[in-house]
Parts: sequence; C-alpha cells; structure tokens
Amino acid sequence: MSTLPFSNRSRPVTHLLGYPRMGEGRALKWALERHWRGDSSAETLESVAADIRGESLRSQLTSGIDRPATGDFSFYDGMADLALLFGQAPARFGDLPNTLDSLFALTRGVETAGEKLAPLAMKKWFNSNYHYLAPELDAGRPFRVDAARFLEPIREAVAECPGVKPVLIGPLTFLWLSRGADAPDRLARSAELADAYAAVLAALAALGIEWVQIDEPVLGLDLPPEWRAAFEPTYHRLKTPGLKLLLATYFGELDGQVALAAGLPVDGLHLDATTNVDLSTVVDRLPSFKVLSVGIIDGRSIWRADPERLLDRLEPIHRQLGDRLWLAPSCSLLHLPLDARHETHLPEALADNLSFARQKLDELVLLARGLSEGREAIAGEISAAKAARDRLDSLHGRRDPERRARIARALREEPVRQSPYPERAERQRQRIGLPLLPTTTIGSFPQTDEIRATRRAFKRDEIDQAEYERRMRDEIVEVVRFQESIGLDLLVHGEPERNDMVEYFGEQLEGYAFTRQGWVQSYGSRCVKPPIIWGDVARPSAMTVEWSRHAQSLTDRPVKGMLTGPVTLLFWSFVRDDLTREEVAYQIADALRDEVRDLADAGIAAIQVDEPAFREGLPLRRRDWPDYLDWAVRAFRHATAVAPDDCQVHTHMCYSEFNDIIESIAALDADVITIETTRSNMQLLDAFADFDYPNEIGPGIYDIHSPLVPSEDEMVARLRLALEKVPAERLWVNPDCGLKTRGWPEVRTALAAMVSAARRLRGELQDQS
Ligand code: GLN
Ligand code: ZN
Repeated sequence: MSTLPFSNRSRPVTHLLGYPRMGEGRALKWALERHWRGDSSAETLESVAADIRGESLRSQLTSGIDRPATGDFSFYDGMADLALLFGQAPARFGDLPNTLDSLFALTRGVETAGEKLAPLAMKKWFNSNYHYLAPELDAGRPFRVDAARFLEPIREAVAECPGVKPVLIGPLTFLWLSRGADAPDRLARSAELADAYAAVLAALAALGIEWVQIDEPVLGLDLPPEWRAAFEPTYHRLKTPGLKLLLATYFGELDGQVALAAGLPVDGLHLDATTNVDLSTVVDRLPSFKVLSVGIIDGRSIWRADPERLLDRLEPIHRQLGDRLWLAPSCSLLHLPLDARHETHLPEALADNLSFARQKLDELVLLARGLSEGREAIAGEISAAKAARDRLDSLHGRRDPERRARIARALREEPVRQSPYPERAERQRQRIGLPLLPTTTIGSFPQTDEIRATRRAFKRDEIDQAEYERRMRDEIVEVVRFQESIGLDLLVHGEPERNDMVEYFGEQLEGYAFTRQGWVQSYGSRCVKPPIIWGDVARPSAMTVEWSRHAQSLTDRPVKGMLTGPVTLLFWSFVRDDLTREEVAYQIADALRDEVRDLADAGIAAIQVDEPAFREGLPLRRRDWPDYLDWAVRAFRHATAVAPDDCQVHTHMCYSEFNDIIESIAALDADVITIETTRSNMQLLDAFADFDYPNEIGPGIYDIHSPLVPSEDEMVARLRLALEKVPAERLWVNPDCGLKTRGWPEVRTALAAMVSAARRLRGELQDQS
C-alpha cells in the first residue's frame, strides 16, 4: 500500500447518506395530513415536498458538502417507494402504477367498493426506531421499472448541483426485507431484480449522474451463505457504463463480511465507523482503485463530536488512502432532528453539546479540513469542543455516585416476583375475577383536538394546574364511562395527560431534557420527539398514581395502571454517550420500581409496563444478543418484581417478531402480554404456541394503524385463529396497540364490536364445556 507524502494532503470528499425528510417545522407532516383529510390537492403536497428537498440540498451545499445526497426523499417510506418503482404492489391491489395515490394506498390501506385492502406490514428498520413498509413479492408478478416518480426529483437536484449522489436501497436489502407468497425463495429472483435496478441506474447515468449510492445494510447482519453468495453476481449485473457505485453499509459490523464487501464489483465502499471496525483491515482488503467512505460521525447520535478523537482514527488511513478517502456520517441523518439551533431554552452546557443533522454537516466539513490542512488549522474548534464537553460533565445532576452504588447493590440479586405465575394467576383471579377471554385495551384513547388544546394551554400558562387537572379528570370520567358502557373487563384511564409515552415519563424524571423541535420521523407523517438522557435518572415523586387512583375511584371494574418500560424509555430517548446502555437502563428501571410499588400500594390491581422497543434493542449480530437480552430482561424484572402476587403485571409489545427471543419474553415473567398480530393474521402467535408460552397472551385483533374499522365477524375470525394457538383460559381480547391516533367514532364502533366478538366466542366455549 503506497503512502502519500504528508505534505501532499488531499481533502477528503464529504458526502451524506441521506437527510431528514420532514422539513423545517415538520412541514411534510402537516402537508400530508391536510392532503389525506382532503383539504389540499396533490399539487400543493408536491410543492411542499419540492421545497423541503430544495432546502435540504441547499443546506448540504452551503455547509460545503461535496456530494449531497438526493433521491432519498419519500412521501411515506423508501421501501414502499421501491415496491412501486419495481411494480411490486401485492396482487390484492391490482395493477398499481407508481403514483402518490398508489403509495398512500399501499402504506395506509384503502377501501374500494366495500372491500378493504390491508396495507403493507410495518417493520422496524434494523435496530432503529424508523418503520418501513415490508414489500410483498408476488411469485407471478415480474419486476418492471416505473421510474418517473423516482427520477423527477433527481433531475431537479442535478440541475442545481451536478455533483449530487442519488441514493437507492440495494437489491439484496430490498429482497431480504420483503415478504409474500414466495418469501422463502425470494433470493431466486435476485438476478431478475438486478436487471430492473440496472435499468434504473441506466436512467440515472442518462441524467449525467456520476456516483450512485446503493445501501446494503443487510451486510451488517449475520447473512446466510446463499445470501452472501448472491452479492457478487447481483452487483455484476448492476455495472452501468459511465456510472460509479458506492456500496453503503451501516448500523451493523462488517466483520466476517469485510472481504465480501471490499471485493464487490463497485467503485467504493461506505462503512459505519462508529462500530468497532478496524479500518486498517478494510483498507488492506480494498482494491486500489476503490474509494473508502468512512462513516466517522455517528449519524444517530445527537452529541457533538470530539474532532480530536476522530482525527486520531482518520489520520492514519488518510495517509494510506489519500484522495480515495471519503467522509460521511455513519448512516442517513434521517434518524436525527433537523437543527439544534432551535434548542435555546436548554442549559447552555447541554445545548452547546448538541449536534443534529445540520450541525453534523459542519462537523463533517471540519474533519475534512482537519485532515487536509492539519489539526493546527482547526485548533480553535478542537478546544471549543473539549471545553463544551467539560462543562457538560460538571453540570449538576450528571453523576450521583450514591444512587449508582445503591442500584448496583440492589441488582446483585436476581429480581423475582414473590411466587411463580400459576400461584399469582390464582390470586389475581380471586382479586379481579375476570371472565373467560377478558377484554381490555392497550392504554391510550383518542387524543382529541380538545385534549391537545388543553395540554397546550397548560404548557403556555393559559390555564392553571387546577383547571388542567379538572379537564383531564373529566376526560378520564368519559373514557371510564364509555368502557363500562360497552362492557370492557379491564379498564384503562386513557392516557389523556400523556403527549407521548416516553416524554411523559421523561418530564417527571431527573436526568432528562426535552427539545422544542427535536422531531424524528417514525413512519409516514408520524414523528417522535425523543427526550435526551444526559444525567443520572431518578424519580423525585410519583408520576402516574393520582390519575390511576382517580380512574379506579370511578368504577367497580379493575383499572390497569400504565407505565412505559425501562428498555423503551431508554431506546426511544437519545442517550448519554458516557455510560453503557445497560447502566442507564438500570437507573430507569429503579425509578419505575418505585412507581410500581406506589401504584400497588394505591390499590391498583393491574399494571401494564409497555415495552414496544424491547425487540428493536436487539443488536444486529447474534453473538451480541445474549448480553443485551440479559440486561434488558433484568431491567424489566427489576422494575416489576415489587408487584405483589395479586397485582397483575401486563406488558405490551408491537411490531415485533418473537420467534427468536421467545425465551427472553417468557423470562420477563409478565402475567399477561399483549402483542400486535392483526396484520400478520396471527402468525406472530406461532412463536408463543410453539414454545408453550406459560402465561397469558392478548394477540391484537384490531389494527389501529389503519383507519379501517374491523367488523365483529372479522374479529371473531381472528379470535378463532388465536384459539387454535392459545388455550382459552390464557387468551385475552384487545386491539393491537393504543388508540391515541384514532378518532372516537371509529374507536367506539370497533371496541363495541370487539367486546361482542369476545362475548360470542365466550358463549360458544361455555356451551361446549
Ligand atoms: N400504552 C401505550 C398506548 O396505549 C402503548 C403504546 C405503544 O405500544 N406504542 O398508547
Ligand atoms: Zn403498541
């Protein structure tokens, strides 16, 4: 490997893998929702999107990014876009052209001529909190290219900046994440798909594009050998005259697959350098004509980078690679909020250490300068970053050694409930006396405009605490009355006081901070605003007890307390980078443990601890699973083991597959678990059935991510399927998830039908016995 003379330092090319799509002030969200309501035309929506794309390109150019990303924008989700790009709408939709209407049909479902067409299933994008829609491949449907909708925005971008680099999710990742009739042998279609990709690439070349980035994040997974073997032939078919390909991997580590990735017939390789990857091994394996893009800036971290530490890593490979070194964030900046400059309300010591998407651009360009001009040239920025970090470290609340020691002591013992499940179940039955196939909901009820307005008014000091509480209590009265009126068995208070299941708790815990504009896309128009865990987490006082107590005082039926679990509070926050996730999870669990105890002491007979993020926390590589599962289960149990035997502990998880983690799910030892199963038509239950899952299960029978209202018959049919897999004595009846995003009319109809469905089957079962 030749080494360049140090004086001849080149400036690395800077580029991005992708940029946030929501725009300033979540412009896309509002435009989408107006359009879906029928309040604005497709043209209006298109023009909002064009503005966002234009602004994204200009931000990249103004910061000095050499090769801005383009083609990564989506009106809903990039995988659903690809399905349409390649003519892969599931057969039930008929022959869908690649249009906006088709995209919304595919992603949200439609009702035509009284027939309901279910949308594509939603899944988590690797180990991130972004959700993609899983394309369904139909064995009989050839890939075809319908590229106008993909190419048009790229044509616009090229006109403004000829050096833009279009981004495409790669063919093998597309296949891997797709499902459908031919799912088991979908790899057999890789050659056919590669030809379709090649047609798209030819169209890009015709636009005058020089580089195209192809994302293959599956290379960071434990890939079966036949999938690994498919890369070489697939990428041979993608070779396009006049076009260079940058193969991008991220999130997972390449180890074991470095040689494969480095040897593919492409012109460059991007890898995520925030993992422990040994960059010099990769450089050694890389053919000398290829570019290496080092994802040196953590594309999912909100923390300001330490340029000195990063230069330590970069300088040696820069000397080796010279102008073949490119610099980028590790992954698309889609996972970050747009701009930290909005967060002026935070303590300066914290605000100064934040770096969102816009700031990452500057950090990247700074590193490129540090390499080409030498550290001296950026000495001011280096010491500013250090000083900022020192101020954060000395902020009050950052470290509480006494609390840390107490938690470590408590966790030396394995957290267990008083008695094993069968005994607890008996006591719980005596205490709450539920019928066969008990009905419940997952917690939230519709968040009406009125509720949101009340919360906003309270935040802005337009109404006082007493008035706010009065209105929320009234709402709870309504929700409890409604549940009683339709005959639900285990009630909830409806969560009107919660804007978000993570923010609500974070706001009451120490160690958390909140952004004003830190929105990140979750799916479609849905965004989340993850809080920031910057200090040691502690619970100064009870967080939910008064609301639950109030709800319980209104009814003779049992009311379920509602908490967000330690793993979810961790993964749906931006977490400090100076402690392990495990340590932070235990701090949160310890705070929740106090809450569980207080709820139980207040006479609450059931407590649900939501862990929708439990599976998403799984590391991408299996060798790292046992460690994660061990601490995640321990954290959950630390939080819940204080519940007395007659207090029923529920947990809830959505968008999860359980097959490979079912043992850990069982180890949580929750008395009841509710899961999302409608879109998979109960397939997700198989894991529980095959494992002989010992405790109670509520497989969702009402898809709450779609505005379609399920009928009683549909729900009865789903329950019958569930009864084939779970014994009636341990089966619950509930929706897939919380109802906060739905409207009251649909919820009223759907829940009443759900209760009738349960009663119908209950009757049948009792007749049989
Ligand atoms: N209890 C929460 C709700 O009902 C659960 C939400 C979730 O799982 N994402 O909204
Ligand atoms: Zn859920």
